[in-house]
Amino acid sequence: MYDVIIIGGGPGGYNAAIRAGQLGLSVAVIEGAQHLGGTCLNVGCMPAKSLLHASELYEMARTEFASFGIAVEPRLDLARMMAQKTEAVAKLVKGVEFLFRKNKVEWVRGWGRLDGESRVRVTGSTGEISVIEGRNIVLATGSRPSTLPGVCVDHRNIVTSTEALSFTQVPDRLIVIGAGVVGLEMGSIWCRLGSEVTVLEYADTILPGTDREIARTLERSLRKQGLNIRLGVRVASATPSDGAAVVTIEADSGVEAEKLMADKVLVAVGRRAFTDGLGLEVVGIVPDARGAIPHDGHYRTSAPGVWVIGDVTHGAMLAHKAEEEAIECIEIIAGKVSVSDDSDIPVVVYTRPELAAIGASEEELTAAGIDFRVGRFQFMANSRARINHETDGLVKMLVDTASDRILGIHMVGPQVGEMIAEARMALTFAATAEDVARTIHPHPTRSEALRQAAMDSAGWAMQA
Ligand code: NAD
Repeated sequence: MYDVIIIGGGPGGYNAAIRAGQLGLSVAVIEGAQHLGGTCLNVGCMPAKSLLHASELYEMARTEFASFGIAVEPRLDLARMMAQKTEAVAKLVKGVEFLFRKNKVEWVRGWGRLDGESRVRVTGSTGEISVIEGRNIVLATGSRPSTLPGVCVDHRNIVTSTEALSFTQVPDRLIVIGAGVVGLEMGSIWCRLGSEVTVLEYADTILPGTDREIARTLERSLRKQGLNIRLGVRVASATPSDGAAVVTIEADSGVEAEKLMADKVLVAVGRRAFTDGLGLEVVGIVPDARGAIPHDGHYRTSAPGVWVIGDVTHGAMLAHKAEEEAIECIEIIAGKVSVSDDSDIPVVVYTRPELAAIGASEEELTAAGIDFRVGRFQFMANSRARINHETDGLVKMLVDTASDRILGIHMVGPQVGEMIAEARMALTFAATAEDVARTIHPHPTRSEALRQAAMDSAGWAMQA
């Protein structure tokens, strides 16, 4: 009988396992895929970041190196670019295996299914079945890409992000359905590598839910790079046709019905909790209307001894959210008082420039009737960004008027994904804007833009 059985070896599951091992619990992870790491390592964050980085270097070599006095004529070797991605991912997967050994975590290879109280049935790759028992079972089975009615994903011409991370040729024309995180990151990669990319988004903004000013700033930068972004269009259907695909746009107020052809269509309209074959009904767990497994606020499901973390439960579908929940859930199981805090989850979009945000948006504060001040600082006025020719974007800080507490920080700019942890730290310690304005930030760094935005919220930005 294990102390903890974890179903799923992604960022939720493997972090839970490592923490359980650290705390001296006996722990097994059931994972049926060939490699540990889940979507994030194998077909999500990590391969995407690898291609984002490589394609960014290619694009810079093509369009920007000359302005730094470097004359080159780059040639794309897509096979090599994909191979270095695969090699990098393989090393990360090995890293998780190493951490399992270090923390005495057992990897049970196969697909797990709840089989009654404390019991999990595991089906291996050749169909062999075993049953293992655990005092606690943590569900960390993640999510799968969603699709739309009328859109027929054939995984060849109409694909999900999984296939779009491994195209063997640059598609001449790529249509992306959805201007969410996946759509913009994958659209950026293939646009840089030479595709004519059209992004179709139903909402009237990219990244719905993001602070509007920040979303618009990123949208302008992406358009300048050549992404054809069409807002307010609803895709009615997408069907494969003769080695290509046809996308139909529905007629709507001000939008005419239209048919578009592309070599590839990427469906990036969100993800849904993955619970297929998990046997939830055996222990009486009922998913919510979105298919996610509910919990009591402390990761306990309705079934005794069964816990849930990550994409398969409610909340943002982000690896760092799953990691935070993993730590907290295991510490509760181990009887510790957990001090984790997943109240404000930072979001990063790894385009160029990057977008990073935490806390409330301007629209949310206005709707809630909160009296707030806004501090802004443009990267155009940041010396490091100017030196590096990366001046698109700004830092925007939203501050409670009465208390000066920071309510939200929203950024578009060069590598702001590396700056958002500072913003999270400020929120964790309930910082005021003045706390940040009076914190030394090294010069010349892009992080000074955050300090200047804090100063600006009180009317004393010094460098603008
Ligand atoms: P998303 O929910 O972020 O975006 C989906 C978009 O599709 C929305 O903008 C939506 O309005 C649009 N849409 C829906 N139906 C449509 C239709 N019929 N026609 C046109 N547009 C339509 O989903 P995603 O981008 O697929 O990402 C899935 C999940 O993975 C998200 O939770 C995301 O946060 C996560 N993810 C995160 C990162 C990161 O942190 N950098 C990277 C990739 C994915």
